[in-house]
Amino acid sequence: MNIKANVSLLALNTLALPGRAEFFCRVSTNDELAEGLSYARAEQLPVTILGGGSNVVLAGDIAGLVVQIATCGIERRQQNDDSQRIHWTAAAGENWHQFVQHTLAEKSYGLENLSLIPGLVGAAPIQNIGAYGLELSDRFVSLVALEIATGNAVNFSKSDCKFGYRDSVFKQGAAGQFVVTSVTVALSERANVDIRYPALAAALAGESPEALNPQQVSAAVCRIRQQKLPDPAVQPNAGSFFKNPVLSNEQWQQLQAEYPQLPGYPQPDGTIKLPAAWLIDQAGWKGAEGQGCGVHREHALVLINSGACSGQQLLQLAGDIVVDIEQRFGILLVIEPQVFGSPV
Ligand SMILES: Cc1cc2nc3c(=O)[nH]c(=O)nc-3n(C[C@H](O)[C@H](O)[C@H](O)COP(=O)(O)OP(=O)(O)OC[C@H]3O[C@@H](n4cnc5c(N)ncnc54)[C@H](O)[C@@H]3O)c2cc1C
Repeated sequence: MNIKANVSLLALNTLALPGRAEFFCRVSTNDELAEGLSYARAEQLPVTILGGGSNVVLAGDIAGLVVQIATCGIERRQQNDDSQRIHWTAAAGENWHQFVQHTLAEKSYGLENLSLIPGLVGAAPIQNIGAYGLELSDRFVSLVALEIATGNAVNFSKSDCKFGYRDSVFKQGAAGQFVVTSVTVALSERANVDIRYPALAAALAGESPEALNPQQVSAAVCRIRQQKLPDPAVQPNAGSFFKNPVLSNEQWQQLQAEYPQLPGYPQPDGTIKLPAAWLIDQAGWKGAEGQGCGVHREHALVLINSGACSGQQLLQLAGDIVVDIEQRFGILLVIEPQVFGSPV
């Protein structure tokens, strides 16, 4: 393991924001990871974990040791019951989409709706990735993580992870305390496609779920995502910049009385999820430009680095949007990506 000093992270985050790691290492095995953590403990360096960098905002340089996870390995374990369940365990450094495609090729079904989400397996539980009507938590069994303070391996069950909408214990009480080393999901030999999500249903209009196989659903998800979302390699971005706000039914009805067009998606617990994109669009921010950054012309939720902006400039634009939406609608938008580093 090679620890380097003063390393640029610009190419390691999909927003292409500038920022340097005081110290940096890329670990390909769990032993190297343990070694890196023990070095950081000995030197009393704070540790920041980086996966594919597709859900982070670099506000500036990062003090301490930045560890990029590059471990690999995928394992299949048939369950010895008649559930037709198969447990798949992937190392944290595996590419998420390639893992999804691998399971589908091996006729294990259940992750197809999460195709083409950027990033690595180890980051998937951090915000409980979700798309097209499915969240990781719907398939999650357990994960193994190393505690940064001690280097001890800890098992987390699904309930330990306290998954929520783009949320988990790793963004709350345990934030910054663990490095995920592997994730286990339960998939099925039986195909049972779910195309209820409106955009997916529309893309597959005319097809009956019974006639579709999971590979076709995965291909449809990939097509929609490629058409809909800007490619970070062309227009640097971190996907959705804001979480969709969740309101009580009462709050939603009050707002809807004022804005009859207000869309809302009822959740199983009786709350209503609003598309943050609708609020941002209504407020006229779509296509708006900040200093070297802006709101995508077609996707109000996606902020882009359009001209070598800094993290501070991007966060300034995000902050202006948050203030405006709160003033207009009384709703406080929450930023989805994790913010790292401080201005130089
Ligand atoms: C174009 C685009 C589309 C996207 N679409 C979606 C979508 O549909 N649904 C969705 O949910 N997300 C989406 N995202 C966000 C992003 O893809 C996910 O959040 C993804 O899981 C981030 O993975 P990463 O490896 O890039 O994590 P990073 O950005 O490197 O890290 C994100 C956070 O996870 C932590 N982390 C990373 N790896 C580990 C680990 N091994 N152990 C502990 N902590 C770790 C980091 O410290 C950081 O806090 C999108 C992003 C982009 C750019």
